[in-house]
Amino acid sequence: MLARSPGLERLRASAAVPVFRGWPGHARDARFGAVFRVILHFDMDAFYASVEQRDQPELRGRPVIVGSPPTQRGVVCAASYEARRFGVRSAMPSVTAGRLCPDGVFLRPRMGAYQAESREIMAIVQGFAGDRVQQVSIDEAYLDISEACQGEDADGSLEKALPVARSIKEAVRSRRGLTTSVGVAANKLLAKLASDFQKPDGLTLIRERDKVAFLRPLPVRSLHGVGEVTERHLKQAGVETVGDLQDYPGDLRSVVGSWAADLRRFAMGEDDRPLELGDDIKSISSETTFRVDTEDRPTLRASLREQAEELAGKLERRRMAAHTVQVKVRYSDFTTLTRQISVEEGVNDSREIYRLACHLLARERLVNRPLRLLGVGVTGLVDVQARQLWLTLK
Ligand SMILES: [Mg+2]
Repeated sequence: MLARSPGLERLRASAAVPVFRGWPGHARDARFGAVFRVILHFDMDAFYASVEQRDQPELRGRPVIVGSPPTQRGVVCAASYEARRFGVRSAMPSVTAGRLCPDGVFLRPRMGAYQAESREIMAIVQGFAGDRVQQVSIDEAYLDISEACQGEDADGSLEKALPVARSIKEAVRSRRGLTTSVGVAANKLLAKLASDFQKPDGLTLIRERDKVAFLRPLPVRSLHGVGEVTERHLKQAGVETVGDLQDYPGDLRSVVGSWAADLRRFAMGEDDRPLELGDDIKSISSETTFRVDTEDRPTLRASLREQAEELAGKLERRRMAAHTVQVKVRYSDFTTLTRQISVEEGVNDSREIYRLACHLLARERLVNRPLRLLGVGVTGLVDVQARQLWLTLK
């Protein structure tokens, strides 16, 4: 319930006094006549590993690591919460995961099963928000339920979303046997932070009146779009938390350039990005054609490293992370092959992209003769993940 001041109650008691519902045509969403935005971010908990634990009950409560076995040069695609407690993370080398978690149960990914599960879940979610759903990855979506949740004011509207959020969680749990975390807020930036706040099986509402305080202790990296480069620049300017950003007395443009205004708005919890309801597939890639065909490992590694850095820079500028990394090779006879790998938590770090690309080349034995061309690409682009930051914060 909203705490109401006595003055406000008195105002309402007089029918002659109209209740202010926002300036006409200003805050109003023309499509629905909704004044107050209500956005819900929905995120399955440790999705790949949870599907495995559901399907193989003997694995429940055990540290499940989906990816290559630790005896092989490979990577982790996903980890259950039990495994995360040991420090296991997606995009980590399996050897490292095996060292951190010697009793971990390593399973080969079953991407087909996860995709089928994802379709079932998204169908359930659509039952609650119709076509106002932006799916951002295999297990994550934003829902715009503004129209159904208009209250007296912004926070009253957000509170109306709580029963909807509980129903979605319950529907997914009872029909699919999986838990989800849901965040409710007035925009995408905050809704995503909210769903990450109390994982697993969480439900968090960030009220408009609390948002500035909520953001204050978070590291700047938790803000949508702040990647390694921006974080470094901010740190050099003495800005480490979102609170530091909120209080920054100088001109942020000298630190982060043209992004300063957006960044300042994000730091105050303001974000008017709409849901993207189209399903255009986005990807970014980088490739190199060698002057002389080569299978020289140091040359190929140097080329991959450069491409990974280029991609990480582009991802950071778009404030995105990638769920899928792809490599492309072309041989002297122009035969061209591509291979890809998907990981549960989006990557935007050049070292992780490089590691996943190297893994693909090795796993598929792609460098068995000289290459004419080598390329790396990323798809499955999503807003930058903040989960790892929550873990370091807690
Ligand atoms: Mg998830």
